Amino acid sequence: MARYTDPVCRQCRRIGEKLFLKGDRCFTPRCAIERRRRPPGSQNPRRRRPSDWAFQLREKQKARFIYGVLERQFRNYFDMARDRPGVTGENLLQILERRLDNVVYRLAFVDSRRQGRQLVNHGHFHVNGGRMDIPSYLVRPGDVISWKRVGDSTPEFIDTLTDGLPKRPVPTWLRMDPAKLTGEVAALPDNTEIDTGIDVRLIVEFYSK
Ligand code: SF4
Repeated sequence: MARYTDPVCRQCRRIGEKLFLKGDRCFTPRCAIERRRRPPGSQNPRRRRPSDWAFQLREKQKARFIYGVLERQFRNYFDMARDRPGVTGENLLQILERRLDNVVYRLAFVDSRRQGRQLVNHGHFHVNGGRMDIPSYLVRPGDVISWKRVGDSTPEFIDTLTDGLPKRPVPTWLRMDPAKLTGEVAALPDNTEIDTGIDVRLIVEFYSK
């Protein structure tokens, strides 16, 4: 499976803002954006005003980096969003939010979407009682997400990751049960709760050329 292999902090530096791709580290002074805000590879940044196209491209890249999606898959999501009834940009955000790696992050089971993707890939989550190791699986209302357990015991790393849940607010379209360590999809994602700061209008304009 193709995946992005460069240091993820470069993605934040390329976009020029914090994308919070690394969990707790993003809130410390070790964050690369705090130390070097310049884009990678630019010693003498030119101060020319970026074109409209550059703004649109940046927004599309920002969305891709935040959700950890490669170019071709992102384009497929856009086509899917455009073919659905409703507003294309809102549909796109909703599709991205429904990815399983994002959902385990939203449930606060993991510290970042990247970590969620890795743990889903390694088969640590079940959906509706069955193993699901595809990070791009799109959850539906009624789906129940749980950690894979062996017998009654919980692996130590799960205890560490889930200690003190909920560690951050869980959106209302998800219901998390801290005692059972499960999450249920109560509804489709509510776009007003998405805090990524992505301007989907620019992404729609980018693909409409
Ligand atoms: Fe981005 Fe987090 Fe790296 Fe900072 S630490 S540059 S916010 S990924």
